[in-house]
Amino acid sequence: MPEIKCPQCGEKSEWNPDNPYRPFCSEQCKNLDFIAWAHGERHIPGDSQVSDIFSEDLEKFE
Ligand SMILES: [Zn+2]
Repeated sequence: MPEIKCPQCGEKSEWNPDNPYRPFCSEQCKNLDFIAWAHGERHIPGDSQVSDIFSEDLEKFE
């Protein structure tokens, strides 16, 4: 089994086709990486900003 380096924690782990979290070593590392990505690359406004836009539009109609 080839060894790969987990992109999140840097630990070496086996490239196991049965591992649903690869290239990460575990579910935790996969989740941490996703959270980091979501915080760093957020181009879509959050729900609160979307609601602000909607409330501004509503005020114009009143
Ligand atoms: Zn890891």
